[in-house]
Amino acid sequence: MADKSKIPYCDATWSPIAGCTKQSPGCRNCFALRNAHRMAANPNPKLHRRYAGTTHMTGHGLEWTGHVNLCRELLDVPAQWKRPRRIFVGAMSDLFQPAVPHAFLDCVFEMMKREPRHTFLLLTKHAQRMADYMALYDVEDAPHIWPGVSVETQRYAEERIPELLRIKAAMHWVSVEPLLGPVDLSGWMWGRAEPCEVCPKDEDCDCGYQTRRSLGEPTIDSIVVGGETGWPDHARRMNPLWVQAIRDTCVYSQTPFWFKSWGAWAPAVQFEFGDLQKERTCQDDTGLLYVYGSPTEWGNKLDSVTGENFPEPQKGGC
Ligand code: SF4
Repeated sequence: MADKSKIPYCDATWSPIAGCTKQSPGCRNCFALRNAHRMAANPNPKLHRRYAGTTHMTGHGLEWTGHVNLCRELLDVPAQWKRPRRIFVGAMSDLFQPAVPHAFLDCVFEMMKREPRHTFLLLTKHAQRMADYMALYDVEDAPHIWPGVSVETQRYAEERIPELLRIKAAMHWVSVEPLLGPVDLSGWMWGRAEPCEVCPKDEDCDCGYQTRRSLGEPTIDSIVVGGETGWPDHARRMNPLWVQAIRDTCVYSQTPFWFKSWGAWAPAVQFEFGDLQKERTCQDDTGLLYVYGSPTEWGNKLDSVTGENFPEPQKGGC
C-alpha cells in the first residue's frame, strides 16, 4: 500500500488482499512472495497481521501457503486520497484468484465505483474469473476502472486476452512482464499490425484492410513490457528481438507502448559497455551476450529511445 508507487505508470498502489498462489511460469520468481514473507516478520503488528500465514519455507524454498488475508481495514484507503491518482490494485497479489470471495470483490468494486476521480488499474492472471465477475457487474458507466491481464508467453496471451476483451470497459490493458518468449499481440490491436504499402497507418483507407475497430471489436488499448528482476541464477533473460517486435506492432497499430525495464539481465547490444570482463555476463542460445545488473541502472531505453506511453485517465464515471 503506497501513496507513491515504484511502478512507473502508476501514482499509487492499493492492496486490499495479501497472499497468492502461483499460476503460471511468469510467477516463478514472484517479487510479492519475498515481500510478503518480509512483511510477515515485521515487528509492526499491523503489517505482521496483514501478511501472517501467507508464506512458508518448503524444501524447494519460499512459497505461498495459498492462504489469503482480506484486509477490510484497507478498503477505504482510496477515499482518503483527495488528489486524483492512477492506482494499481492488488500489486502484491491477484484480486481474482479463487480464494477471494465474491462478496469481497463486491466491496472492492463498490469502493472503486464511489471514487471516479481516481483511475484503477486491475491486473490478473485469472482472466476468466475477472471477465465473469465484471460481466455481472455494471462497469459500462465506470470508465475509470481499467481491467488488464498479465501474460508472459504466446500461450498465456491466447488464453487470457480473449477473456479480457469480453469485458465491456473503456480501456483494456496488457502487461507482458516478465516477457519470456516471442509474443504476437497483433491480432488483438485496433489498427494495422503491419505496415501497409498503400496507406500506412491510415485506418480509413480504401485498400480493403479492416481493423478490429472498424469491425466494432474490442481491442488492447495499452501494452506494458518488462524483463525479470532478481538474482543472477533466477532472473530469466529477455531477448531484445521479442521487445522490438511488440514495440513495432504497437507503432503500426498506434497502441500506447510502455517499456518498463530490461530486468536484471541487459542485452549488451543495447548498451555501450566498456570492459565486459569486469561484469557478470552470460549468453543465450543464439549467442547474444547479456550483462547482469540493476534494472534501475539499465533504465528503460529500447534502441536508445525511452518507451513511456500510457493512456491518460478518461473523464466521466458514475
Ligand atoms: S499472480 Fe502475481 S502475485 Fe500471485 S504468484 Fe503470480 S506473480 Fe506473484
